[in-house]
Amino acid sequence: MDPIASPGITEETKQIIDALRYCSRREHPEDTVVRVGDASIGRGHFAMIAGPCSVESEEQIVGIAKAVKAAGADLLRGGAFKPRTSPYDFQGLGAEGLRLLKTAREETGLPVVSELMGVRELELFEDVDVIQIGARNMQNYELLKEVGRLKKPVLLKRGLASTLREFLLSAEYIMAEGNAQVILCERGIRTFDDHTRSTLDLSAVPMLGELTHLPVVVDPSHAAGIARLVPPMALAAAACGADGLMIEVHSDPARAFSDGEQALTPAEYAALAERVSRVREAVSSR
Ligand code: PEP
Ligand code: MN
Repeated sequence: MDPIASPGITEETKQIIDALRYCSRREHPEDTVVRVGDASIGRGHFAMIAGPCSVESEEQIVGIAKAVKAAGADLLRGGAFKPRTSPYDFQGLGAEGLRLLKTAREETGLPVVSELMGVRELELFEDVDVIQIGARNMQNYELLKEVGRLKKPVLLKRGLASTLREFLLSAEYIMAEGNAQVILCERGIRTFDDHTRSTLDLSAVPMLGELTHLPVVVDPSHAAGIARLVPPMALAAAACGADGLMIEVHSDPARAFSDGEQALTPAEYAALAERVSRVREAVSSR
């Protein structure tokens, strides 16, 4: 479908499309599929990405990796370099965290996703399967150009106060350098309301589906910030056409080094994964 031709398209939307060369649906009508190990994301392939906010120890990451794998997860997430709001909060295990993530990958076969915060750490990420660019770095253009030169998938999170135009132009920075393997992640935006950590913008999912061929995943954990709200938001994301979900899971949320309030336990995650499959079946047009 040419979004320009669809009824109800606004002047703003037309301008977004005109600004894009690589990620627009107009330039590339077919959905992009990003492949990582045995997992595929996009064009009907749905991926579940699960794991703790931060890698804390070998026992923690390997235990969670095994649990989410048993529940059908396709990729393991885990932060080693953490962008914390306060400089006095846990900043991540750094290189050691990446080493432990690799151990978890060896134990389970799950490809790993981890956040890169600065170009100086790039070398350490050689063995990381998917590089995450976090919300706070969505407009770090030097970093975007750098990951644009890599030959591996990049999971780009929407900035805390970014419009879809800005989000897509950031994806464009990566693609313009030659890297076509970009996965977009809607993770909530800042609004006037503070009853949740962020406001999950689910309308972004079908809208991005019109504007771009790139896969779109949803992170209900950082959007909600409250574990009990994660399942309903995850189910809604699956129902509105997301290509995957990224969910924080911790075996002992009360003792997590970061983001424990929004983490599901492995049992809660397994129950949710099952319901996500049922929602996807229910809404499938096939
Ligand atoms: C994260 O995924 O752990 C994270 C820090 O997310 P965001 O960049 O969306 O805040
Ligand atoms: Mn987190």
